[in-house]
Amino acid sequence: MDSRRDFLQKLSFGIGATAISGLPAYAGASCASPKADKQLRVAIMGLGSYGTRVAEAMKDCKMATLVGAVSGTPSKLETWKQKYNIPEKNTYNYENVSKIKDNPDIDLVYVVTPNSLHHKHVLQIAAAGKHVLCEKPVADNAKQTREMIAACEKAGVKFYIGYRMHFEPHTRELIRMREAGEFGKIMHVNNYMGFKSGDPNQWRLKKALAGGGAMMDVGIYALNGARYATGEEPIWVTAQESKTDPVKFKEVDETIMFQLGFPSGVIASCGTTYNFNNYERLYVVGEKGFAELSPAFSYGPIKGHTHLGPMNQPVVTHQTLQMDGIADIILNNKPDPNVSGAEGLKDMIVVDAVYESIRKNGAKIMLTGK
Ligand code: NDP
Repeated sequence: MDSRRDFLQKLSFGIGATAISGLPAYAGASCASPKADKQLRVAIMGLGSYGTRVAEAMKDCKMATLVGAVSGTPSKLETWKQKYNIPEKNTYNYENVSKIKDNPDIDLVYVVTPNSLHHKHVLQIAAAGKHVLCEKPVADNAKQTREMIAACEKAGVKFYIGYRMHFEPHTRELIRMREAGEFGKIMHVNNYMGFKSGDPNQWRLKKALAGGGAMMDVGIYALNGARYATGEEPIWVTAQESKTDPVKFKEVDETIMFQLGFPSGVIASCGTTYNFNNYERLYVVGEKGFAELSPAFSYGPIKGHTHLGPMNQPVVTHQTLQMDGIADIILNNKPDPNVSGAEGLKDMIVVDAVYESIRKNGAKIMLTGK
């Protein structure tokens, strides 16, 4: 077992959020409640580790149903047909997936392929006229992300990113408290997320498929978290990379520290790594209070406390809430909790700047006009 899987599996999962104060309506679905009349019919593209996790989590969804699959591996399609009751007519491979446009029984395709394939796959799905949910990181860079947004707009389809934390109760409560002014003026943010990557041959360590290393894969959580912890958009970035294993991390970044400067003057100090464990936290402190989540970004259980004491939000299966949330947003025309393609673009602009700063020996990269 590679250590990433190990890292993920050692975390435990809970299901069944009941009514959660301060959460959007879709997040309160109870496991006991029946399937809603309207269903978002979803196909998953890329039947790997995370695609399978989503499929399992969707068994508890009330508003989203797994109805289709796209895979380059015929044997996986056979297994999924049996396991998830997917009809043959809703299965595709990467060569014939454009035919999905003629299938009236699929509303949305969830792209869960390696990072650098997201751009190509999202363009294919948009051209087929289906809504798209795409895993993080949305693409290799901001340029590709802009093209994906434009393609979805042109096709008249919705485009969301799998930013599951935006559906997670502790995270929602932290955002609610910040918006309600309960922390006072925000003074500082300190976020980090990383793990020790295992198999040296995995696609995550190959630039052509991963786009980048830890920053792309999990640094994005620290970055996105800095944006929702402050409610501001960064105006400058500085970054530094350390590479202690240049053989294993020949093609992608190993450990990166980055700092984000916000218009209010707040600086978020963030980090990410592929080369050590026990590195996961979101900390926001203001003039009147603070919140600390740790674990903050993995599947959980997310734990946290604030200046008021322990946080008692329910433990949920993130992917179940996310998929019901996306269904509610699309089917009932609800506002999304900052998971649109445009939000993905804001992060990718910063990721580009992080790499630019590293190339320029830690230079301050101004984001205005990017
Ligand atoms: P896996 O390697 O487990 O699965 C990726 C799947 O993509 C493969 O099984 C394969 O499925 C398909 N694929 C298509 N082309 C290729 C290729 N050239 N090389 C390898 N696989 C290919 O990766 P994960 O499921 O862990 O990650 C997939 C995406 O999900 C990534 O973008 C990652 O960042 C994201 N992710 C998000 C998480 C979250 O918490 N939001 C957690 C984990 C991952 P098939 O055989 O069916 O074609």
